[in-house]
Amino acid sequence: MTPYDAAHSQGSNVLTDGFGRTVTYLRVSVTDRCDLRCVYCMSEHMTFLPKAEVLTLEELDRIASAFVGLGVKKLRITGGEPLVRKNVMGFIEGLSRHLRSGALQELTLTTNGTQLEQFARPLAEAGVRRINVSLDTLKPELFRRLTRGGEIARVLAGIDAAQAAGLKVKINAVALKDDNAAELPELIRWAHGRGLAVTLIETMPMGEIDADRTDQYLSLSALRAELESFWTLRELPLTTGGPARYVEVAETGGQLGFITPLSHNFCEACNRVRLTCTGTLHTCLGREDAADLRAVLRGGGSASDLVDAIRMAVDTKPKGHDFHIERTLPPAVARHMSTTGG
Ligand code: SAM
Ligand code: SF4
Repeated sequence: MTPYDAAHSQGSNVLTDGFGRTVTYLRVSVTDRCDLRCVYCMSEHMTFLPKAEVLTLEELDRIASAFVGLGVKKLRITGGEPLVRKNVMGFIEGLSRHLRSGALQELTLTTNGTQLEQFARPLAEAGVRRINVSLDTLKPELFRRLTRGGEIARVLAGIDAAQAAGLKVKINAVALKDDNAAELPELIRWAHGRGLAVTLIETMPMGEIDADRTDQYLSLSALRAELESFWTLRELPLTTGGPARYVEVAETGGQLGFITPLSHNFCEACNRVRLTCTGTLHTCLGREDAADLRAVLRGGGSASDLVDAIRMAVDTKPKGHDFHIERTLPPAVARHMSTTGG
């Protein structure tokens, strides 16, 4: 336990917002950089943040640990691509002390999988039990186009390594009307055949990208109706306090999730907040509300100043989001998903 951990563990350790929702889940983006350039996520020539603006791993640890001291039970490390951040394993190993102390129930990661072959075992050794791997297609050519240059073989080798290391893997696939919609049943069958759960995600209007996002938007209700024309989908009583709804596909025995932030409102039970790699705390993915925790740390704030800033931000967590996808409007949220962390 560090002196910071000790300071945070004093006082009430529950984070509750103004609507009585308890925050138990923090997503931490450790970098805005990535080795891929997925068409729905980034523009081809992204300008990344100057290094000085990005929190050090020690600063990220201080903030994440403050949240654990305040009752957060689940940490998800994301990005950008978290595994391209230098010494990210040292950071994750450091956070695993909260698993060992029992304060944290789950330490997990969302990754594009390109570096997993190297990192799967160390992740498992650090106490990570489940990871999400993003994969929108099984076709090498389409994968290369959607990621602007990615090699699918590396992701597949990464998934193999993760399963060999005993990690449970969930596949995240963004549903894109023209690109992968027709292939999604095959992707689901493939994943379920390997014992992998799948979650389908609707494109969200975040950040300026090169393509017209409305052209890619595919409603998951329409897709679900199509899947139900040949599969039996049984509702599962699972909820993670987020926008995902889960079913079991009777024919494959596998789990399928639908993340529909645009077509459904999921905010009443929202239990999560997000920290960007620059130390900005977003209490809602779909709104601009934010608190600058980096300013607290770099301004010489104490552990209790940090706790106060977190409590104040959570207290004003918005009731719901403002997503829209109309053609004429700019993105509902100007920041890219890679800055906030998906
Ligand atoms: N690089 C890692 C990855 O791809 O898994 C972690 C970060 S990525 C931003 C997290 C998730 O957000 C991925 O599953 C990605 O497909 C999804 N994503 C990115 N941009 C999105 C958008 N505009 N709408 C919906 N999902 C998006
Ligand atoms: Fe990179 Fe993930 Fe965004 Fe793709 S979705 S560009 S892998 S951060």
